[in-house]
Amino acid sequence: MDMKNLIERMKKIGFTEVAEVNVKDLVPMPEIRQMCAADRCGAYGHKWSCPPYCGTLEECTERIQAHQNGIIMTTATQLEDSFDYEGMQEGGRRHQKQFLQAVEELRPEYPDLLPLGAGGCRNCETCTCPDEPCRFPDKMMVPMEAYGLFVSDVCRRNGVKYNNGEATVTYVSCILF
Ligand code: SF4
Repeated sequence: MDMKNLIERMKKIGFTEVAEVNVKDLVPMPEIRQMCAADRCGAYGHKWSCPPYCGTLEECTERIQAHQNGIIMTTATQLEDSFDYEGMQEGGRRHQKQFLQAVEELRPEYPDLLPLGAGGCRNCETCTCPDEPCRFPDKMMVPMEAYGLFVSDVCRRNGVKYNNGEATVTYVSCILF
């Protein structure tokens, strides 16, 4: 795998930073998974991509460890101020769009890639969970947090900024190969 070339291709999509991620640094933690149960994002029990449906921590660990290589990508957005909720949402949409583009571009080359995104799966306007099976299980986007990953720590270990300064918001995702 030509990692340098891959990173350059991903940067062209528009991410703020792209770097190689050490898969060994992706260690699911029960404390992070427990935070999902507080359901601050409204996805707990409402998306197949999120706990309790996205698999046990042991299963998530196995899926991560089935991959040898990975990249981490961030999208930083400048806000009007720290309360600029619309700006935060817009930053999230921009990151999601770029991340989807990255996954779609790489999937033909790496059919077994594992996308770990920011926030619950948004492939469908309304998720079928929990009444019917997932419509696109092969394309489901699972949040890093749902896999128990401590996102800011993963950034620090792999040399990308989780905080890009005052009144900014930074979204983070990974793709494993
Ligand atoms: S692909 Fe659709 S049905 Fe499946 S988890 Fe995502 S939003 Fe839900």
